[in-house]
Amino acid sequence: MLQPPHSSRVADVPHQRVPVRDREQDAPWHTEAVCRRDEAGLFFAPSKEPTAARLSREEAAKRVCGRCPVMVECREHALLQPEPYGVWGGLTAAERRVVLARRRRRDMELRKAARGAIAAAG
Ligand code: SF4
Repeated sequence: MLQPPHSSRVADVPHQRVPVRDREQDAPWHTEAVCRRDEAGLFFAPSKEPTAARLSREEAAKRVCGRCPVMVECREHALLQPEPYGVWGGLTAAERRVVLARRRRRDMELRKAARGAIAAAG
């Protein structure tokens, strides 16, 4: 779901959440998404949702994602955009922020190592 089923920006069906450009040219994965419009409430938090309800809802959404054949593609889409809300690819927005922070740290370490190697060789 480029606009995950639970997307508040567009419609609720995964392929409808995908930008038109991607939908038509680059991201055929969304057509295989198992999440559907009638599950939108499962993937996005209503306003003022109590914590226990949110955790339960997110776990239910993740179970849907767990049987989705395009979970990896959906997750990467949500990380690359990045999508700020909702469960995408089995990850909540908070979990995606952690993944992105780890990737940034890893990239910084790789750049630092590369600079060190270049300096040592020069
Ligand atoms: S991984 Fe989850 S949110 Fe993404 S398309 Fe599949 S069911 Fe929908």
